[in-house]
Amino acid sequence: MILYLRKLNLMLLVSLTLSLAGCSQRQSADLILSGGQIYTMNPQSPQVEAVAVKGDRIIYTGAVEGAYQLRDSETRIIDLMDMTVIPGLVDAHAHLFSLGRSLHQLNLVGTTSSAEIRSMVLDKTGKSSAGVWIQGRGWDQNDWINNQFPSWRDLLGTELHPVYLRRVDGHAAWVNKTALEICGITKDTPDPAGGIIIRDSAGEPTGVFIDNAIELISLKIPQPTNAERSSWLAAAIDKCHSVGLVGMHDAAVDSVKMEIYMKLVQKRQLKLRVYAMLSVDDINGGKAEDFLYGWFDKGPFFSDDHYFTVRSVKLFADGALGSRGAALLQPYSDDPGNSGLMVEDPEFMLSITQRALESGFQVCTHAIGDAANRSMLDIYEKALKNHSGSDPRLRIEHCQVLSLDDVPRFAELGVIPSMQPTHATSDMPWAEDRLGSDRVKGAYAWRKLLDTGCRIPCGSDFPVELPDPLLGIYAAVTRQDCDGNPQDGWFPEERMSVEEAVRGFTVDAAYASFAEDISGSIEAGKLADFTILDKDIFNIPLEQILDTHVRYTIIGGEVVFGIY
Ligand SMILES: [Zn+2]
Repeated sequence: MILYLRKLNLMLLVSLTLSLAGCSQRQSADLILSGGQIYTMNPQSPQVEAVAVKGDRIIYTGAVEGAYQLRDSETRIIDLMDMTVIPGLVDAHAHLFSLGRSLHQLNLVGTTSSAEIRSMVLDKTGKSSAGVWIQGRGWDQNDWINNQFPSWRDLLGTELHPVYLRRVDGHAAWVNKTALEICGITKDTPDPAGGIIIRDSAGEPTGVFIDNAIELISLKIPQPTNAERSSWLAAAIDKCHSVGLVGMHDAAVDSVKMEIYMKLVQKRQLKLRVYAMLSVDDINGGKAEDFLYGWFDKGPFFSDDHYFTVRSVKLFADGALGSRGAALLQPYSDDPGNSGLMVEDPEFMLSITQRALESGFQVCTHAIGDAANRSMLDIYEKALKNHSGSDPRLRIEHCQVLSLDDVPRFAELGVIPSMQPTHATSDMPWAEDRLGSDRVKGAYAWRKLLDTGCRIPCGSDFPVELPDPLLGIYAAVTRQDCDGNPQDGWFPEERMSVEEAVRGFTVDAAYASFAEDISGSIEAGKLADFTILDKDIFNIPLEQILDTHVRYTIIGGEVVFGIY
């Protein structure tokens, strides 16, 4: 008791000293923004005239006169010249190292045939020494005239190099004959649990691998060095700044990535706010025990500058819809013998969820099909029943196909649906073929979820989609592709408002990472993170969101990207 009182006295003394210091020295701003539209996403004062920043914090929001009282000779003033300020945008589900790697590899997004890809590979082989792996990512056979899976035969002529090309969603890989040989894949190679080797009518592997079967190839590819990985990370962070992102939730960080992040954190050189989800599978070959359980013993990590947080775990329940690996309650409408794949043992997922909650960690599980989502809601429900400690905020990542019966369970259980608006507009040309006209009503069902009171943190899943959050906001509010199709939007009743979409990339992304007290809106005391746009996206025709450009990205009061 005596100790407690002493502590209290000390606290009183400290707070008295601090307030006296405040009286004697008027606070001056390092940065003032004024002269444009400032949307705070704070319902108490949704729009303000000016914002003042000191160090990495917002110290004032309100009228211009009030901000200018904080000005001294050192203050930098950004005259917005009618530009629009919103809280710094955060991508709530993405892959930073993969983005960096994709910037260094063949980018196959938007290709229209296997022949086009073959000629891109041949071009690359001409510039690399024989034997070096040629890697690429981004193909989607659904965009091709012949939308069957390709085979190694489509890459004939590339045999001096092993070739490894990931599908756009990362859930399938396509390789050439040399890669099959190097990896020892033959007719006799069995399908691994949770994976499929696509075979021809004679049972011979065709060169396409689904979900867990991808590792039969990927684990044989020489690992990049940490120097290469670091340079990928730097390139990815620059890219994020240029599209207006101040932060992202990294959906699977293993021990190798963690080491690179931690080095940057220690040197205070990480220039993007990263919320890391711990990977269950460790790249070093270990599973859970070494890496994840070590973190459970240590507990969550928060860097004092709020750039790096480790407080969540990434699990996978199923594959993806495009490669028909998403686990469905009923078979695929365009593949009646196939209901997709659950890729992890439910008992294992329950035990990880329980251990995570006990250790103060959140769980974020990839679930795309309605069977995977139901299974995860069941697992979460069980885990939550016996949990009484920390705020759980369990998440499901993607939630693409939901049984209508399961929609209300998210709000009831407090489970956060973390969704990616551009997935809907990328998948809409073929999603109904996969799902049929009834089941598609529970697909990408943002409005149905919002109406139950859910918050939807939004992301892009980059490099699956482009990292530009304005594309996500456009997709969320139109459900149209960039050419404006379909004319009224795909299932337009599921659209979000601009405000809801911006919330998804700001306030709700902050909530999904327990950061709503420090970021997500423009309020005094919060981090000075802003995205500044050349158009007022709240007051333009929706299609003009596509013509809106990022003018500044500001993180912790520092301009990390600017066109001025
Ligand atoms: Zn992802």
